[in-house]
Amino acid sequence: MASLGSIPGGLRDLLLGELPGVAEAIDRDNRVPEGLLSRLEEEGAFRLGELPSLMEAVRLASRSSPAVGHVILIHGTAWCRVGRLVGEPGIVAVSITEPGGGTDVLGNLETRAEASGGGYRVTGVKVFTSNALYARYFLVLARGPEGPTLYLAERSGAVSVEPMDLTTLRGAGVARVEYRGAEAVEAGTPGRGLREALEAINVGRLGYAAIALGIVEGALEAALERMRSHRVFGKPLGEYQGPRWMVAEIAAEASALEALIREAASAAEGCRVDPLRAAMAKVLGARLAQRASWVATQLMGGRGLARWSLTERLSRDSRALDIGEGAREVLLDFIASRLLKG
Ligand SMILES: Cc1cc2nc3c(=O)[nH]c(=O)nc-3n(C[C@H](O)[C@H](O)[C@H](O)COP(=O)(O)OP(=O)(O)OC[C@H]3O[C@@H](n4cnc5c(N)ncnc54)[C@H](O)[C@@H]3O)c2cc1C
Repeated sequence: MASLGSIPGGLRDLLLGELPGVAEAIDRDNRVPEGLLSRLEEEGAFRLGELPSLMEAVRLASRSSPAVGHVILIHGTAWCRVGRLVGEPGIVAVSITEPGGGTDVLGNLETRAEASGGGYRVTGVKVFTSNALYARYFLVLARGPEGPTLYLAERSGAVSVEPMDLTTLRGAGVARVEYRGAEAVEAGTPGRGLREALEAINVGRLGYAAIALGIVEGALEAALERMRSHRVFGKPLGEYQGPRWMVAEIAAEASALEALIREAASAAEGCRVDPLRAAMAKVLGARLAQRASWVATQLMGGRGLARWSLTERLSRDSRALDIGEGAREVLLDFIASRLLKG
């Protein structure tokens, strides 16, 4: 498969060489070790300015650890917007979803920002804030004096982070975050926070397709290895037509997904991705990742169901792709509306 964009050689070696060896521990512990985060930082994972490069890093990480792909992605979606605002390097988390629900963002938006001195103070509770465990900075959607606005808060005693124990994307640093008058600055145009948050979410949607592509490639590699090495009734599994057809179809659809992601990433203008392409890529990717991880598990037999195995992890993680960054139904509705408008 061809690359989606260029990334530093050291980062490529880290994601393809070392990450597979620690992916299981990240999954078990629901946390990326400090040392690995520092290595990712050193190798440039948190300074990928161009979208094609960001998508490539997310894809390669997700072959073994979709959670690490997610950490790089969520930081990248925010970095695009706030990179110019931060003095010191540090991981950024995106805090939009509230306890009332994530689809109806505005209807559930209770977090508030009040002017204070030259800046603002943010107060409220967010859930499912990915990267929160590792973040130095938090991009927060709150109701400000002129309406919904994006703010940037730095980690301090006024920001409490409580890890969430999900079955999926374990290690993505997902947490409930409480802001108790946390100091913040504006990170966008006052009153246009929802639209600007959606721009970041569109990059996230395309990134979810890149996670999906990584999952498909990781699952396909495991399936092919099994088909080469495992013998049944005196011949390799790879000589049976059923498995051959399954992997061939997955590989063909993965090529189409790759082309769609590449097209959308290279057509992006700065942080702006075409929302239709991003939604289509996410919907297609999630379905394909679920299918590919199901097939890989099937071909592994009972071993494929072993707790913390690669195939079990890819199956669990592929499920999140239909919920995070917008539920599947919402995206399908959006695609249909665009089609009906012509
Ligand atoms: C692993 C993970 C990471 C996440 N990371 C972040 C993050 O970093 N920052 C952040 O702010 N949020 C994050 N989220 C939250 C995510 O954006 C929300 O989960 C998502 O928007 C859906 O919101 P909800 O879970 O509250 O479901 P709800 O909004 O309650 O919806 C529940 C279900 O109802 C159905 N539904 C909803 N609306 C419609 C509709 N219009 N038509 C038909 N069916 C509908 C769908 O099946 C949907 O799954 C993350 C979530 C997950 C799972």
